[in-house]
Amino acid sequence: MVPAGAHGKPPVVRLPCACVTDRTPEERREELVRLYHEVGDCRRCPLGATRTKAVFGMGNADADLMFVGEAPGAEEDRQGKPFVGRAGKLLDQLLGEIGMDRMRDAFIANVLKSRPPGNRDPQPEEIDACRPYLETQIGLIEPLVIATLGNFATKLLTGSQVGITRQRGRPQERELGGRPVVLYPLFHPAAALRTPKVLEQLREDFATIPALLARERERARPSALAVVAAGPDPAAEPDQLELLG
Ligand code: SF4
Repeated sequence: MVPAGAHGKPPVVRLPCACVTDRTPEERREELVRLYHEVGDCRRCPLGATRTKAVFGMGNADADLMFVGEAPGAEEDRQGKPFVGRAGKLLDQLLGEIGMDRMRDAFIANVLKSRPPGNRDPQPEEIDACRPYLETQIGLIEPLVIATLGNFATKLLTGSQVGITRQRGRPQERELGGRPVVLYPLFHPAAALRTPKVLEQLREDFATIPALLARERERARPSALAVVAAGPDPAAEPDQLELLG
């Protein structure tokens, strides 16, 4: 199959819909792979012509935790993988300190999938063109918590102009990719590499991630009390009703 966009046509970005949550994990993974190929061929904005490799993201497609950074840097552009330089090593180290692993416990992506030349700031039209891919990823992965890394991703996803210094470490409820999620703004690891105080604060905020995930998993769990309070489903089989009796 030739993925959409392979001949220079703008690819069709399918936004998540209510039916996404009804899909099996296998179906969601298949859709994610299809999206991966679509991003690899994407020319929706001028960055498609200057990048070396698109950087789709990597990790566990069923993870409860997602990290979202700004855009690929030089090394990411070369390898086609997110957070592979020094900042990525620090991210892995901080995850390790809380007993987590990027491939097992998280999915890591960026707002932009192609590198802006010279690591310049992303332009509004590039963000508009690329954002549907991120939203579709969120809709397919179904994370409970999205940790935004740095000022840029934080302002974009929270929809607030408040800087990262004031937003860091404060979970916020939002709707993204058609689903409710908790955004958790964090300093960018690259900033922590430059400033020891920032590293200290980033480490403090990472230490809260396991408890935040546990809380959100508990909230996401269907409550037995809620099932009883809702009363018996008239369409339910009799043996199911007996379980509530
Ligand atoms: S940045 Fe996004 S929209 Fe632009 S070419 Fe890359 S994948 Fe496509």
